Amino acid sequence: MDRNTVSIEKNLSCDDFQAQVEDVLIRHRSILDIITKLDEYTSRINRAVIKSVTYCGCIEIHATRQDYNRESLEEIKNNMQNHVKGNLCPSCKEILEEEIGAYLFYLSALCNALDINLSDSLLKEYRNMKTLGIFSLK
Ligand SMILES: [Zn+2]
Repeated sequence: MDRNTVSIEKNLSCDDFQAQVEDVLIRHRSILDIITKLDEYTSRINRAVIKSVTYCGCIEIHATRQDYNRESLEEIKNNMQNHVKGNLCPSCKEILEEEIGAYLFYLSALCNALDINLSDSLLKEYRNMKTLGIFSLK
């Protein structure tokens, strides 16, 4: 795949992705299969993160209590830790990208089964974030 093709694909829209899922999904079309596949890929994503720590070792998790004892939400935000040390190696990153992609596939399939537009959901969440900012408290 040449660089130009990758660049064009980087502009892939949610609508195009969702339409493509609609076109190719055959075997797991039942909503029962879709929601259990979503569960499966949530587990596979979590498993891939853990294997990056316990098998590969490219990342480590050093978890401690979060510090909420600050004056403002801004200060709290700036002092929250994700507890990840290091960076994913190319191999672990590729695995996680595949698992996340499969998750997005089944999330799109769920949207198709229930006549929900993925872009609308994304846009609603985006507007909510823009309106509430750090006060969304997520
Ligand atoms: Zn790794």
